[in-house]
Amino acid sequence: MADSTELQVRTSIHAGGEWRAALSGATREILDPADALPFAVVAEGDEKDTDLAVAAARRAFDEGPWPHTPVAERAALLRRVAGLLVRDRETLGLLESRDAGKTVEEGRVDIDCVADAFRYFADLVAGEAPGRVVDAGSPDVHSVVVHEPVGVCAMITPWNYPLLQASWKIAPALAAGNTFVVKPSEITPLTTVALIDLLIEAGLPTGVANIVTGPGHTVGARLAEHPDVDLVSFTGGLVSGTKVAEAAAPGVKKVALELGGKNPNVVFADACATRDGFDTAVDQALNAAFIHSGQVCSAGARLIVEESVRDRFVTELARRAEKIRLGRGTADGVECGPLVSEQQRDKIEAYVASALKEGAVLRSGGKRPEPSADRPEAGYFYEPTVLDHCHREMRVVREEVFGPVLTVETFRTEDEAVALANDTEYGLAGAVWTADAGRARRVAGRLRHGTVWINDFHPYLPQAEWGGFGKSGVGRELGPAGLAEYRETKHVYQNLAPKPVRWFAG
Ligand code: NAD
Repeated sequence: MADSTELQVRTSIHAGGEWRAALSGATREILDPADALPFAVVAEGDEKDTDLAVAAARRAFDEGPWPHTPVAERAALLRRVAGLLVRDRETLGLLESRDAGKTVEEGRVDIDCVADAFRYFADLVAGEAPGRVVDAGSPDVHSVVVHEPVGVCAMITPWNYPLLQASWKIAPALAAGNTFVVKPSEITPLTTVALIDLLIEAGLPTGVANIVTGPGHTVGARLAEHPDVDLVSFTGGLVSGTKVAEAAAPGVKKVALELGGKNPNVVFADACATRDGFDTAVDQALNAAFIHSGQVCSAGARLIVEESVRDRFVTELARRAEKIRLGRGTADGVECGPLVSEQQRDKIEAYVASALKEGAVLRSGGKRPEPSADRPEAGYFYEPTVLDHCHREMRVVREEVFGPVLTVETFRTEDEAVALANDTEYGLAGAVWTADAGRARRVAGRLRHGTVWINDFHPYLPQAEWGGFGKSGVGRELGPAGLAEYRETKHVYQNLAPKPVRWFAG
């Protein structure tokens, strides 16, 4: 990292192999959301810092060795990075916990998943054929389709899974031979800064990896419009994602967008017919909605439950939601940390107030918890909240709340369940719970969402594509399609026996 202590990374901008402060000298304090106290200081970059970083990435792509480095060497470097992540798991997990407000265990799991992403893309490129020979219908022609890196990639990432979201972009981009500039969320930049150091330690050539810490409206906006950027990959909210796509359009850049979700968790009564089935479905509904205080793009924030089991299901769910232990992510026994910022908590309070005004019935939460030793008064805590008797016209049902708020709707028929689950402008993820295998397949086939879980919620695999239908985004991360995003496709047609075509007589 830039400075000697982890808490003073005023030189958190890395461009062309050099750690530097912002050209303007501006800095930003990073707050611990558990007590609202600053625990780190980073450089606050702007458009000028961004231009320097893009120039470095451009030079490294046009003149440097990385795009032409043999695939086996690129894969070996990615595996070395995975090893360094394992080495630094505790430090990085703790940093992620303090920065994003998650529990330390969640922070550790995030780092494991980051290492998995590097390993997966290393294996994927290492195992590929170098090109696809096409039968041109003539022995005098050799025709092959090859894949090449796109060029300079700009990556803009959110605060909820800071390093994980960055790694889903950085690992495939490097595997494919690109250079990049990453802009982490201004609220949670620390682990991404640390990752750049690990890439350098692993031996990445100068100028391939660049980072500018700073706000979206300056650094992010400049990256999206920059004429020397070939691709913009953005993860974040719908409003910012739309701005990024607009800024990138005049330059006809490639654009990948991973946006929000309003994800249905559909529970049929037959899934609750046995005691174990009921316990599992309730337990997973709790997990779906409240892990990381619901600040998850694929959070199961809409419970759509068959009417006949609604009362029993919601009563048990609310009982368990009230027992979730809220506190500082670094404290022992804590199950959920604070929200990431005051602004985020204000937004959630407004959503809950509007839902109650529109007729929702509060079954748990709906307020800030009492302060305690593990829960400083200044921290951004909010109780896990279950809102019963919700309907599709409510704002809290239609819009992404991105906090610990679960809405409950009911259905009577399979068709009604599917219609409700698809009644969203988003389409990121959804789940169906049923003991009927035929129904499970039928409903999964009809859900208009990029990931569908059957009798589960939240697992993802680096081998399987992740992304959304509708306004949840454009393109896919992870899986072979997540690598393809970072590549151009080129057809090389070689005439082995050239002769005149005589199309023109003269
Ligand atoms: P956000 O849109 O506010 O910010 C995301 C990033 O965009 C930040 O780095 C921010 O600085 C930057 N940004 C903001 N305005 C910009 C602009 N005009 N131009 C360029 N960059 C700009 O989102 P957030 O609040 O950080 O994250 C939460 C959102 O991210 C939620 O909507 C969530 O669903 C989404 N998300 C999606 C996925 C997914 O895989 N689909 C994963 C994680 C988070």
